[in-house]
Amino acid sequence: MTGTINFKGLEKLAATFEERSEIPVLFVGHGSPMNAIEENEFVKGWRTIGQTIPKPNAILCISAHWETRGTFITAMEKPKTIHDFGGFPKALFEVEYPAPGDPALAKRIATSISEPTIGLDSNWGLDHGCWSVVKHLYPAANVPVLQMSIDYRQPPQYHYELAKQLATIRKKGVLIIGSGNIVHNLRALDWNNPDGGFDWAATANDIFKRLVLSGDHQQLINYTSLGREVAMSVPGPDHYLPLLYTLGLKEEKDAATVFNDKLTMGAISMTSFKIG
Ligand code: ZN
Repeated sequence: MTGTINFKGLEKLAATFEERSEIPVLFVGHGSPMNAIEENEFVKGWRTIGQTIPKPNAILCISAHWETRGTFITAMEKPKTIHDFGGFPKALFEVEYPAPGDPALAKRIATSISEPTIGLDSNWGLDHGCWSVVKHLYPAANVPVLQMSIDYRQPPQYHYELAKQLATIRKKGVLIIGSGNIVHNLRALDWNNPDGGFDWAATANDIFKRLVLSGDHQQLINYTSLGREVAMSVPGPDHYLPLLYTLGLKEEKDAATVFNDKLTMGAISMTSFKIG
C-alpha cells in the first residue's frame, strides 16, 4: 500500500466518525515524568478514568511541554515518543508509547478552525506531558493520539476561545486532554514533602478547585488577579494554560468533577478535572 492510498483511507475513516455526545474533556495534572513508569495513586486515578469513560475515536492532547509561535497540530502517521527531560533513570528513556497518529483528522481539525490558522506539524510527536499520562489511560496504545501546541505569545483568553472551536471535534468522539499542573513552582520544590504542599500552594489549589467547580471561568482566565498565593503557584503560564483549553469546552450540560486531588513536593498540584 502506498502512503497516498493509506492517507486517503484514514481520511475516509475520520470522515465517518459519528456524532457522539458522551465523551468528556479532561484536565490532567501530570507531575513528574516518573509517573510514566511508577505505580502510585495518580497512575491509578488515570487508569480508572481510562476504564470508566467510553473509548474515544482519537485523543487530542494540549500539553504544557509544547510551546510554539503559532498553533500547530501533529499530523504524522507515527508520532515519536519524545523524552523531553533530563536526569531521570535509563528505564524512563526507554519507554516508547507507539500510539498511531491520524493525519487526516489533524487536517480536518486544522481546516475546521478558521481563526487562527492552525499549522500541520510533522516534527514533534508525543512529549511526556502527553504520553506519561495517556500511556496509563490506554496501555495498549490503540487510540490515535494528536497534540496541539500552545502559542506562548497569546493571552489566556485566546486559549479559552480557541478551545471552543474544538467542540465539534469532541462531538465526533475525540477525547481532548489538557495536561499541565495548576500549581507548578519548580523553584520552590520541597523534596522532603512528597505528600503535601506549602500553605500558599494549598490555598491556590483550593481557589482553583472552587472556581472550576462553580464554573467561574472568567476569574480563571484572569488568574493573574487572584492574589499572592496564585501568583506563587503559577510563576509562568505554561502548566496553567492547558486548564483553559479544558474549561473552554465545558457545555451547559457538563458536570465538573475532581480526581487525583493532591499536592506533592510542596509546590506541585496533581489536581485534575473531568468535565462531562
Ligand atoms: Zn510538566
